[in-house]
Amino acid sequence: MNWRATVLTLFPEMFPGPLGLSLAGRARERGDWSLQTHNLREYGLGRHRAVDDTPFGGGAGLVMRPDVVDAALSGVLGAGDVRPVIYLTPRGRRLTQADARRYAAGDGVVLLCGRYEGIDERVLEAHGVEQVSIGDYVLSGGEPAALVLLDSVVRLLPGVMGSERSGLEESFSDGLLEYPHFTKPADWQGRAVPEILLSGNHAAIAAWRRASAETDTRARRPDLWAAYASRTSNNALPGT
Ligand code: SAM
Repeated sequence: MNWRATVLTLFPEMFPGPLGLSLAGRARERGDWSLQTHNLREYGLGRHRAVDDTPFGGGAGLVMRPDVVDAALSGVLGAGDVRPVIYLTPRGRRLTQADARRYAAGDGVVLLCGRYEGIDERVLEAHGVEQVSIGDYVLSGGEPAALVLLDSVVRLLPGVMGSERSGLEESFSDGLLEYPHFTKPADWQGRAVPEILLSGNHAAIAAWRRASAETDTRARRPDLWAAYASRTSNNALPGT
């Protein structure tokens, strides 16, 4: 069975968006993965198909109702559907490359896109929904976050990256940022590429790339560096 993404949203027209193009788009045309969208409005209440209401406890904005989201989830999830249900929210744990790999290894995902102030917490608990954030900033809706999550996963599905490397050497795969990249011309506006990359000495190039990855990770992402350094028993790590 192919990998399946189901998205519950008030704006189904935002999909497939960028996922209809390039690698992800071609993979979808080949049938490597599929995408279904469901409009939460269809499960709304009354003549106006209301999906939201005022927050208990007061405060600004509106909250998406649990009964509406429950009806949508129950309507969409078939019996025996073991895919994780994921609510994109800044309150969630931050999405990582490890999550992307885990989702890619499964049957697919069901994504819940919030709007307004978000979704009533009780329906998230009732359905065992995972809460995932794509970063420490606030979007107006979960749709761009769902596209980000799907992009990170779909490119890892078997065959999707085609002739590109499997992603094993990419940023985060070994806890480090990737090394910097250079291409032709070798001298551009007086800036030469590091000479070692022209040497043809593969072992020396690999060592240079490793050292660059470590230096950049340490400078740019102290959080990743600390985790990497504590996992690595190598006392020769620079600056440790
Ligand atoms: N009141 C919420 C808060 O402060 O945590 C923000 C709600 S936001 C305006 C509306 C919706 O956008 C959220 O329900 C969520 O689905 C989505 N969203 C916003 N920022 C996000 C992020 N960093 N990651 C994932 N989803 C996000």
